Amino acid sequence: MDLRVPGPTPLPPPVREALAAEMINHRGAEFRALLAAVTAGLQHVLQTEGDVLVLTGSGTGAMEAAIVNLISPGDRVLAVTVGAFGDRFAEVAQAFGAEVSTVASPWGRAANALALEDALARTPHVRLVLVTHNETSTGVTNDLRALAEVVGARRGEGGPLLVVDAVSSAGAIPLPVDAWGCDVAITGSQKAWMAPPGVSMLSMSERAWAAAERATCPRYYWDLRKACRAAERHETPWTPAVNALQGLHAALAMMRAEGLEAIYARHRRVAHRMREGAKALGLELFADPAHASNTVTTLRVPEGVDGEMLLRRVRELGVTLAGGQGALKGRIIRVGHMGYVDTADIDRVLQALAAALG
Ligand SMILES: *Cc1c(COP(=O)(O)O)cnc(C)c1O
Repeated sequence: MDLRVPGPTPLPPPVREALAAEMINHRGAEFRALLAAVTAGLQHVLQTEGDVLVLTGSGTGAMEAAIVNLISPGDRVLAVTVGAFGDRFAEVAQAFGAEVSTVASPWGRAANALALEDALARTPHVRLVLVTHNETSTGVTNDLRALAEVVGARRGEGGPLLVVDAVSSAGAIPLPVDAWGCDVAITGSQKAWMAPPGVSMLSMSERAWAAAERATCPRYYWDLRKACRAAERHETPWTPAVNALQGLHAALAMMRAEGLEAIYARHRRVAHRMREGAKALGLELFADPAHASNTVTTLRVPEGVDGEMLLRRVRELGVTLAGGQGALKGRIIRVGHMGYVDTADIDRVLQALAAALG
């Protein structure tokens, strides 16, 4: 079966072999070497000299970790949202007592840097700006660099922190965390990292650490100060998902061998093939073409076609695709192409789609 949903993603053979390894002591030297290597690999891909913490939990767990460590109840948070995951981040902040305002774009469109600038000018004392780098529900990649510049311009005393949900972009789409001034970038093992679900990763700038000291949100499992102290001795505060980390370690070695530029180019190539092939089948792209994602392609379900039925037919032909989320359920299909993927995989997706539509 070709698994082409936007996470979890297929596992390359070296990762599967690593997952089959015998269990190790999570307080032993072997684990400490593993975590040190994984952390260095993540810093390399995320292009940061700052701390990168490895957490056990899915991407949403890391989103919650970011919120509870950075705010106090009543703090003002500005959430830039262009889809279901942007909305989720706003909801997490709300759940912990933040005063959340949103800067929203219609689904399928990218975030507007001018609208963010306006909102920041109108809203005093914004503590956090939440941005989704790649909106997996709509197949849109935001211009993070432009959004980061807007936030960066207010970076003085008391300026907001930039918190980026990069769950479905990091490792596939350029994200120079330090150069763009991301205070926190969040990602997850089961997306572009070619590893199984279970681990999320989060970078922290110096300013983010200062905020973590001041924040008064209750936290325990997700207390990143505990994670930081443990990371200094290459450990985690609680029992980590050891196998997932072994898989991630093997995947990071593959990524280092391929090289970041080659990884980005492969994702551009794969996404281009997917979009062009879909158009050739008469399918309409859902996302604004100027911001179409290189990790997930969204296609409108053609008039008169049952979206669920289309997914079922494609699955019978050996390819698993995803449907729409929320208001897009039944209206779009989503093809994940991040991580362990090349153009030959896309050709099989296109063949299955062609046969199913026929
Ligand atoms: C997958 C994803 C998440 C996290 O989802 P989990 O199921 O909690 O891992 C968050 N944001 C985006 C953009 C995603 O694609």
